[in-house]
Amino acid sequence: MAKKMDAKEKWLKAVAGLYPAAKGSMREVRRNCSSPSCTTCSSGTRHPAWLLTYYLDGRQHSKHIPKAMAGEMRKALENGRKLEDLMVLASLELIEAHKKK
Ligand SMILES: [Zn+2]
Repeated sequence: MAKKMDAKEKWLKAVAGLYPAAKGSMREVRRNCSSPSCTTCSSGTRHPAWLLTYYLDGRQHSKHIPKAMAGEMRKALENGRKLEDLMVLASLELIEAHKKK
C-alpha cells in the first residue's frame, strides 16, 4: 500500500508542474477584419492571427487564439506534450508494478 501511495504522489507532483497543459496544434493564419475600409484587408495582406486546431469526440475543431496569449498557449501545448510522455511512462510503470505484485 505504501508503495502505491508513493507512485501516486510522484505522479501528482509531476503533473502539477505541467499546469497549464493543452492539446492541439496552433498555426498562424491571415484573417479579414470587420472594417469595410481597412487598407490591410483590401490590399490582400490581411491580419495575422493564431488558430488552435484540436480533436474532440473524433471531430476536428478550431478556435481563434487571442494574440496576447499566443505565448501562453504555446507553453501550454508544450506542457501537454510532456504530459503525454508522462502518461506513456506511467503505462510502462504500471506494467512493471503489476509484475512485482
Ligand atoms: Zn482589416
